Amino acid sequence: MKAKELLAIATEFGAPVYVYDSAKIQKQYDRLTKAFGKVGSLKVNYAAKALSNLSILRFMKHLGCGLDTVSIQEVRLGLDAGFRADEIIFTPNGVSLEELEEAAALGVQINIDNLSILEQFGSKHPEIPVCIRINPHVMAGGNSKISVGHIDSKFGISIHQLPHILRIAKLTDLKINGIHMHTGSDILDIDVFLYASEILFDAAKQFKDLEFIDFGSGFKVPYKEGDIQTNIEELGKKLGKRFNEFCEEYGKSLTLAFEPGKYLVSEAGYFLAAVNVVKQTTSTVFAGIDSGFNHLIRPMFYGSYHDIRNLSNPGGKERFYSVVGYVCETDTFANNRRIGEISEGDVLAFSNAGAYCFAMASNYNSRYRPAEVLWHKGEAQLIRKRETYEDLKHNQIDIGTQF
Ligand SMILES: *Cc1c(COP(=O)(O)O)cnc(C)c1O
Repeated sequence: MKAKELLAIATEFGAPVYVYDSAKIQKQYDRLTKAFGKVGSLKVNYAAKALSNLSILRFMKHLGCGLDTVSIQEVRLGLDAGFRADEIIFTPNGVSLEELEEAAALGVQINIDNLSILEQFGSKHPEIPVCIRINPHVMAGGNSKISVGHIDSKFGISIHQLPHILRIAKLTDLKINGIHMHTGSDILDIDVFLYASEILFDAAKQFKDLEFIDFGSGFKVPYKEGDIQTNIEELGKKLGKRFNEFCEEYGKSLTLAFEPGKYLVSEAGYFLAAVNVVKQTTSTVFAGIDSGFNHLIRPMFYGSYHDIRNLSNPGGKERFYSVVGYVCETDTFANNRRIGEISEGDVLAFSNAGAYCFAMASNYNSRYRPAEVLWHKGEAQLIRKRETYEDLKHNQIDIGTQF
């Protein structure tokens, strides 16, 4: 989005504020579906946890997405946003049997990621088909915090335990209608992904009732100029071809499913925050913003990079700044970054703020979570109000003066 448009939003709705550009989300969706155009049945299930605002979920539904959820609450948000139960897949990790049963009772496709629950669920509900999450033990990305396919990962049922899965299915008469993998959040190398897919195809042959194969997500998006990103077109061509071949072999045309979060919303999001103070120390110039890791924790949590523009001085001479927050911990958003000269009161825009940004916001330091705005067809619409002091106190029970 243009600096002028973003600045107008900060003026109208105040800062800090998150802004999401619907056209960018649509562009990403169209690119993915086009890349897999040769696949007979493709399903893109948006991973709600990346950004779960109801209006965003509604927009995903409007695009034609299904929904990938990781909690019963996300399932409920999806239903409230207009998704039919059969358009939702529930892919949790380590949740209780009761939570899975609750989702299944709503008619949602469930995806089970451990043998213990698989056996319990199968014994109680053999009539409800389930998907199973397989861990192919392939490292898809370099960052171990977001790679979930490796040998000691807590996610999925190990591919080496395939015989156990088959035994449980036989014993309980459970129908397995899908198999799934999600190898992490940073697929740099398509060949690694294709390699993991072969493992999944191989496993798929063992299941007679499949309706879909879910390849998870992990598409890498660029964070700055020159960054490598997943070559979606090449992946579409290669995996699409292999998938079609597999369906022939399997004797049935299956649905190819993905569940991208970051890929769909990361680049569509901007986080706008005002500069409270410019502070020069011996060797560093700090720009202290009216925010902290309570609003945007990814740089501190994952070391993620977010490009920062000074909206108030777009053509300004660049200087080096360390951009920091107001939280009473070290909360550095950027270290010695070149940014157009900053004055107090200027508004900065953080890029790639759509995925795992608002979704991870908290009330730490008793701060309000920011507002969210949707930029759609040239108009800004408020889709979440900024919190208030009343919200902070909402569930607290003040036991009064009895001490
Ligand atoms: C988080 C998650 C996703 C989405 O991952 P992105 O990297 O945001 O695309 C997909 N599937 C599962 C099971 C997840 O937990």
